[in-house]
Amino acid sequence: MRCQYVTSAQESGATQPTGSAQHQLDSDCTGLRILAVHAHPDDESSKGAASMAAYARRGARVMVVSCTGGERGSILNPGVEENRRSHWDLAGLRHREMAGAREALGVEHRWLGFMDSGLPEGDPLPPLPWGCFAKTPLERAAAPLVRIVREFRPHVILAYDENGGYPHPDHIMAHKVAVEAWEAAGDPRRYIAEGDAWEPLKLYYDRAFDVARFKALHEALETRGMHSPFAERIARFAESEPEGAPPVSRHQTTTRIPCADCFDVRDQALKSHVSQVDPDGFFFAVSNDLQREIWPYEDYVLAASRVEANLPEYDFAEGIDYRQTPETRRGNDQTA
Ligand SMILES: [Zn+2]
Repeated sequence: MRCQYVTSAQESGATQPTGSAQHQLDSDCTGLRILAVHAHPDDESSKGAASMAAYARRGARVMVVSCTGGERGSILNPGVEENRRSHWDLAGLRHREMAGAREALGVEHRWLGFMDSGLPEGDPLPPLPWGCFAKTPLERAAAPLVRIVREFRPHVILAYDENGGYPHPDHIMAHKVAVEAWEAAGDPRRYIAEGDAWEPLKLYYDRAFDVARFKALHEALETRGMHSPFAERIARFAESEPEGAPPVSRHQTTTRIPCADCFDVRDQALKSHVSQVDPDGFFFAVSNDLQREIWPYEDYVLAASRVEANLPEYDFAEGIDYRQTPETRRGNDQTA
């Protein structure tokens, strides 16, 4: 009988991790499998890219799933925007960009094949387009992801939190399908057409846009008398969260992945998404040397775990005996 339990990191009273200069990933992670669920091509390069590359470089298998093709995205690089040819086939362009990012990160990649919902704008907000990802019934939207989980058999799933990291309808839907797959993939009575059950062991939410990191970099830049691109962002945050108010995100970082050796690879992946990223913009405003000094990791919250969690932690594989995990392990032992 395999004991199954889920721990909420918050309820377990986790303390936040401190600096991780002394923490290093195992140099050999062969056997570990990590699946990251993202909404659009380019999200994998702006959220958790260095962690994924760090594990892949150490022998783990890392797979990125893009739920949509990003067909309704805007072109955010002025140099590409002015080229009319870029607008003729944005979906095709974004497929090619994703191939470049995949190669840079050294990960595997699958498309779920859903249609981008677009970011509705206006007051009142217009309805979401017919047939888009965010309007797809959950069971139908999650089925291809459950199939991938059962084929790839990840120990770890990386996803967005309930707000999607930021409230784009596709990001919120990506959260929902990831949680559905986390819960259902190990149950042989569910999604019976999608392969043999497999139960992932840990579910993380990404915290790439946690304000603590921006604050630390902002202060480091100011101390050095350098221009900080984060001043406005931090002021906005302070406004939305006055002193004493509950935090915007109910999550706290529990897990810090030391991945500074892959910051350059992360930037290379992000720059592969030429149509989506302004090479002179926000993402590249602080040198990687300074980032390595001030914040040499990427942050996550352990949202749920089926293995005993020892928090804070500095490795997704903490508590997972992936070298021993039988390939044929099945979820939901009937005797449990
Ligand atoms: Zn996105």
